[in-house]
Amino acid sequence: MSTIHSVTASFPDRVLPYPEAAQVVFDHVRTLTEKPPVEGIPLLKSLGRILSEPVVADRDQPPFARATRDGFACHAADLDPSRPLQIVGQLRSGQSWTGPDLKAGEAIEIMTGAPVPKGLDCVVMIEHVMIEEVMVEEVMVEEVMVEGQSIRPIDGRKWVSGENIVPRGAEAREGNVLIAPGTRIQPQQIAIAAACGKPSLSVYARPRVAILATGDELVSLAETPLPHQIRNSNSYSLAAQVAKGGGDPVILPPAPDVLSSLEESIRGALTSDLILLSGGVSMGKYDFVEQALANLGAEFFFTGVLMQPGKPVVFGRVPFEAGHRYFFGLPGNPVSTMVTFALFVAPLLARLSGQSANACKPDFREGRLAETVEVKPGLTRFLPARSESGIDGTRVSLRPWQGSGDIAAASEANSFVVLPDGSGTLAAGAQVAVLYL
Ligand code: AMP
Ligand code: MG
Repeated sequence: MSTIHSVTASFPDRVLPYPEAAQVVFDHVRTLTEKPPVEGIPLLKSLGRILSEPVVADRDQPPFARATRDGFACHAADLDPSRPLQIVGQLRSGQSWTGPDLKAGEAIEIMTGAPVPKGLDCVVMIEHVMIEEVMVEEVMVEEVMVEGQSIRPIDGRKWVSGENIVPRGAEAREGNVLIAPGTRIQPQQIAIAAACGKPSLSVYARPRVAILATGDELVSLAETPLPHQIRNSNSYSLAAQVAKGGGDPVILPPAPDVLSSLEESIRGALTSDLILLSGGVSMGKYDFVEQALANLGAEFFFTGVLMQPGKPVVFGRVPFEAGHRYFFGLPGNPVSTMVTFALFVAPLLARLSGQSANACKPDFREGRLAETVEVKPGLTRFLPARSESGIDGTRVSLRPWQGSGDIAAASEANSFVVLPDGSGTLAAGAQVAVLYL
């Protein structure tokens, strides 16, 4: 006699092609406008965080006309190989010119980063002049003795006004927004924030993401598994993906394949901002995740995707307080878990963490197939691959694997090649999308 579990609510069967499922997630990403709470953090702790307030230029950038080469500041119109210019002074970075305005036929030796004196419109590179010793009187400029030297521009070059000078304010004007809210802070944003004198930044608090592994076979890392038991690796890979994606992972005790326990665990997860379940979403008799969610009043946006690995993936939301909580039921096979996270969870998590909607996409890049591969009709496939990037692009080769449970292959690979739904082959050299976790 078989055990029939009690069904208190039904759930739809909605299996979508991958592109449609991706669009469903993105439609939710776009409609999410509520922002997370804000916190202030020291600049150096802001790497990877999402900015909540604009970073504004506190002065013009550059703050003065900046020499971008070591050379000689002068009037461009004065540069003529038949006529040497007399050097009347030297200007290092960190100094500004306090001498008299330059006359025709004069130049100032200038270092990269120094302010170009008013009225001069060109910095001729040191490589583009010949320096000649001339018998002139010594001149005193800010306590630097300048020998009587002159420069003669080399033949065959033209100098234009503005050469090797970035005008004041050309990069940014005081008051311009330099980093928009919703931007993920990378080293270049840290540079501009530092340049604006910001020792701390306002960022969004990380969303809490509940991780609930399911399965009677699971044991913790502290236990010695019996031959038929499996260590719970998904809670760890998911926690790592959540942390990498800007969330704060909350690992819950795994739930057994018992409907009432699952319901109880999911109820406990509702205080988090997003709920991730792994396992229990296939067609097996003890796959109760969707039923448990349905019993809690879930709305399902899809209950499967025509893809491999990851076909049983589920996306929906459960009512909670005045609103709802989004959940993903990820397949238990560890490679499926990671791939479906990268494709569907990462974009929603990015949005919940405050990123601007158009940045909330899976990490797809381009590559070229190293060998000819077969494509299959009816499925978008994401197969473990090694991608090697060089200046001529990225070359992608498939790795042998035993299917969606093969974490060893996924670990040895560094990416997943995307093989679109189709028939026939993709030739070696064909351009493909490559997914990174
Ligand atoms: P399921 O999706 O529950 O049918 O599980 C599919 C496969 O993934 C089975 O071989 C499970 O043992 C395995 N699996 C499920 N959950 C985990 C987990 N948390 N860690 C490692 N493997 C898992
Ligand atoms: Mg299971």
